[in-house]
Amino acid sequence: MDPILKVQNVNKRFGGLKALDDVNLTVERGTVHAIIGPNGAGKSTLLNCFVGRLTPDTGTVMFDGVSLLGRKPHEINQLGVSRVFQTPEIFEALSVLENVMVAALAHRDGAFRMNAWGALDAEVEIRDRVLATLEDVGLAQRRAMEAAALSRGDKRRLELAMCLVQDPKLLLLDEPTAGMARADTNNTIDLLKRLSEERGITKVVIEHDMHVVFSLAHRISVMAQGHVIVEDRPENIKGNPKVQEAYLGG
Ligand code: ADP
Ligand code: MG
Repeated sequence: MDPILKVQNVNKRFGGLKALDDVNLTVERGTVHAIIGPNGAGKSTLLNCFVGRLTPDTGTVMFDGVSLLGRKPHEINQLGVSRVFQTPEIFEALSVLENVMVAALAHRDGAFRMNAWGALDAEVEIRDRVLATLEDVGLAQRRAMEAAALSRGDKRRLELAMCLVQDPKLLLLDEPTAGMARADTNNTIDLLKRLSEERGITKVVIEHDMHVVFSLAHRISVMAQGHVIVEDRPENIKGNPKVQEAYLGG
């Protein structure tokens, strides 16, 4: 056992609503861990607690031995946690290439404190890495396009590239295939699988689409009404009566 992320007894209230109710979650290094559950179960809220967008009322979130609580989003990003949002957060007016450059530069804050030659070397290195990443996600041909002009699926791919260029230890994906047609969904599954095999990046994936979940995940946590009601291997999830009940709104 080698956990990269350990969440213990996390609670979060929004006024009278208990959005997270004593959540525990352990993610093993190198695995894909899916979080599923009906709308409003608290999945995105939990992810927001990992990246510094929200602070739990109580509980602990440990990443690679350090606490993430009380840290700013950019600090958490520097530690090696990258995140794909439920709604793509890209710079619409910039080109595809520029978007990934910005993500790469934002990650390595030291680059521009070097002397001029050092900075130039760094920029060349970053540019190579950006181009390789665009190749990886299949956007190399569209690198000069304005991001606003991309299809929905390609915007998600761009956002994924913006995460990958940072070479994260932990990648958090909130519904990476939401709004995609089946062909695009399958391409994304293939891409995420390939990344798992080639780079071994640990991933936490929130996903509605069961086809995606069962294609990718090593372990699944099922959330309902702020609780993790079941955590198990995919083959044990489908037939679990508690899971079926949660989805039927029981
Ligand atoms: P999921 O991602 O599983 O669909 P969310 O984590 O987005 O669920 O939401 C969990 C619950 O918390 C929902 O009832 C939602 O309306 C509520 N909620 C989420 N964010 C906020 C917020 N910033 N303020 C108030 N309520 C919120
Ligand atoms: Mg959500």
